[in-house]
Amino acid sequence: MTDDKNTKKWFLLSVAATALLLIPRRSSRKDNTETVNNHNTVSEGSDIDDAHENVISKNCLVFITQFYVLKSQFWSLLMCGNKSVTMAERTDAREVLKNVYSLIDTHTHFDAPVFDNDRKQQVEQAYSQGIRHLVLVGYLYQYFDRMYDTQDFINKMSQSSVTEVNSKDKCDVAAHIALGLHPFYIKQHTDGHLLQLEQMVIERRPLAIGEIGLDTFTDAMKQPDVFVKQKRFFAAQLDIAVAHRLPVMLHIRKAHAEALAILKAHKYDAHKLGGIAHSFSGGEQEAKAFVKLGFKLGVTGQITNPNAKKLRRAIQVAVESHGIECLVIETDCPDMTPIMCQTTDDTDSHNRNVPANLPWVLASLSELLEIPHDKLAKQLWHNSCDALKVDWAYSV
Ligand SMILES: [Zn+2]
Repeated sequence: MTDDKNTKKWFLLSVAATALLLIPRRSSRKDNTETVNNHNTVSEGSDIDDAHENVISKNCLVFITQFYVLKSQFWSLLMCGNKSVTMAERTDAREVLKNVYSLIDTHTHFDAPVFDNDRKQQVEQAYSQGIRHLVLVGYLYQYFDRMYDTQDFINKMSQSSVTEVNSKDKCDVAAHIALGLHPFYIKQHTDGHLLQLEQMVIERRPLAIGEIGLDTFTDAMKQPDVFVKQKRFFAAQLDIAVAHRLPVMLHIRKAHAEALAILKAHKYDAHKLGGIAHSFSGGEQEAKAFVKLGFKLGVTGQITNPNAKKLRRAIQVAVESHGIECLVIETDCPDMTPIMCQTTDDTDSHNRNVPANLPWVLASLSELLEIPHDKLAKQLWHNSCDALKVDWAYSV
C-alpha cells in the first residue's frame, strides 16, 4: 500500500471515528446531566452548572482535538499530496518541469556512502535532469581521497559517454572538488590536517576551499573553547584561500556577525576571489551583508518549503537590493531534500536528496521571484561561474 493510500485510509477512519464519538457524546452529556440533576435534586444550581460545564468542556476538548487531526490530514491530502509519494509518482511529478535546463549543482556530498549502491544511476539521472557540473565539497580530511575517487568515477563515466553523441546513453557531468575542514566537525580537525590541506591545494589545485566557517547551532558548538577553535580554523583556511587565489564555500549557522567580522579582518574580497554562502540561513540583513561582500547566496531545497518564511523573505530582499546575480543553487545532497521529493517512508533511502532533484530548487525559486525558468536557469549558470571563477560554456 502506498503512503498516499495510507493517508486516505487514515483520513476516512478519522471521519468515521469523529462521527461515532460525537453521536454518543450528545446522549451521554444528557445522561450525565440528568444523573447530576437527580443526585442534586435539592442542591444548589452552581454544583449542577459546574458538573455540566466540565462535561461540556471535555466534549469540546475531544471535538477540538479531532478537528485538528482531521484538518491536518485533510490538508496533507489536499495540498501536500506530493509529500508522500512513491518513486513512480515522484517521477511523474517531475514531469511538471517539462523542460530540462542546464544547471550547476554548486554544493554536494555525492561521495557519501549513501550513494555507493547506485551512484552511476544517480549521475545518469542528474544528467537527464540538466545537471552539467557538480561540486564535491569537503568536510573532513579523512574523506578527501574518497572525494577524488568519486570525481574520477564521474569524470570517467562522462569521458566514456563522449562517443555517445546524440545517444540517449550520453551522460556528461563534470565533477569538481572543494577542499575544506567543516566547522561542525571542529573537534576532529588537527593542525596537521590544516598543513596537509594546504599541501593538497598546492599539488592538486581544487576548484575552491570549503566548506569552512562557523556553526553555533548546538550548545556544544557554543562552548568558548570549541568556538575559539572554529574561528582559528576558519581564519587559517581563509588565509589559504587568499594565498592561493581560490573562492571559498562558507558554512555559517547562527554566527553570521562573527563570520562577517572574520571575513573583513582577513581581507577576503569575494568580488575578486568569488565565494558562496552555502545553504544560506540568515535573515534579510545578513543576506544583504554577504552579498555586499561579493558572495552569492546558496539556495537549497529548503526554499521549496512554503513555511521557510524567513529564508524566502531573505532571498527576496537580497534580490530586490542586488538583483538575481546574487544567487546560486545547490542540492547539498544527501541532505536538504525538496519537500515534494520527501516521503514518509523512513525504511529506505527515499528521503535521501540527490543531484537530480536540483530542478525543484530552480522551480521554487522561479515561482518565488516570478522569473521564468529559462531566464533564471541561465542567470544561475552565469552566477555559479562568477562565484567559482570558471568559464563553463552554457548550453541549452
Ligand atoms: Zn555541505
